[in-house]
Amino acid sequence: MTTQYTFTDPAKLYADIEPSKQHQPEPGLDAELTPKAALGEDTYVGSGRLEGRKALITGADSGIGAATAIAFAREGASVAMSYLPEEKADADRIAGILREAGATVVQIPGDLRDAEYCRALVAQAVEELGGLDILVNNGGKQLFNEDLTTLTDEQFDATFKTNVYAMFWVTKAALPHLPAGSAIINTTSIQAYSPSAILVDYASTKATINAFTKALGQQLAPKGIRVNAVAPGPIWTPLQVSDGQPQEKVAEFGEETPLGRMGQPAELAPAYVYLASAESSYVIGETLNVNGGMPTP
Ligand code: NAD
Ligand code: MG
Repeated sequence: MTTQYTFTDPAKLYADIEPSKQHQPEPGLDAELTPKAALGEDTYVGSGRLEGRKALITGADSGIGAATAIAFAREGASVAMSYLPEEKADADRIAGILREAGATVVQIPGDLRDAEYCRALVAQAVEELGGLDILVNNGGKQLFNEDLTTLTDEQFDATFKTNVYAMFWVTKAALPHLPAGSAIINTTSIQAYSPSAILVDYASTKATINAFTKALGQQLAPKGIRVNAVAPGPIWTPLQVSDGQPQEKVAEFGEETPLGRMGQPAELAPAYVYLASAESSYVIGETLNVNGGMPTP
């Protein structure tokens, strides 16, 4: 069986998953992605690294969040999943995989742009998991726009609400419940350092997430709560085919990386496991880049 530990040439790994031109309405579904993304369903093997831990993951239905949820469950954690109601099909499939791993799973659909939902999400996760010691802020919005004069106030606001405000609201609500030893992991992007001309609003939110992570990491370290971030490069997820990129760019997605290919959500999950686990006890305010080799500051 091939697992995340199988010795392989990383330039060839998943290279057979070739994206083709396609489009989905936002937020997009993993179920409709062609070819299918690798979420680690068939490869991720746990070894007790998160035994007994209690995690809340936003955007846990698909892509990077789903791969992280699968890894967390197989490492022994209970998982509360946040996602949009229209993503129920993806979320139900992932919840099934987590339960097969023996995990307690709580599904809490709602809209992260709503502060009330963010607070209720944390309250329900804490209630049903019996506490919380891992928070993964991963839900995100990316819509390309080629001309700032046509970037609507509504989109600018929604991108910041989803990517930045929700992280603030969920983290703030979670803090009173997080014991020493807990981990908060935010999801930033290569766009924080190397922004695309067509992602002005999105890239700005990702730079904000890096600064938020480094500031809060210092604030919470004395309390024994570690804050870190993961910065993915081009990863094959529904976000990219629901106007995250122009359709004609999808076919060459990821070819600009030194590895010459896009990444798969399964390749992100181990970074989140590492930052969530007690093994990263001296790692705070770090951004772990998982991007196929693109240089970062
Ligand atoms: P994805 O579409 O699978 O996941 C994003 C999730 O965000 C959705 O599944 C949805 O549940 C959630 N979401 C979006 N708007 C929401 C809202 N208003 N309310 C509640 N939930 C909402 O795509 P992904 O690529 O796995 O994205 C996960 C994270 O990774 C995002 O923060 C994204 O910015 C980041 N990221 C992705 C890439 C990439 O190339 N795919 C690169 C860098 C960073
Ligand atoms: Mg989704």
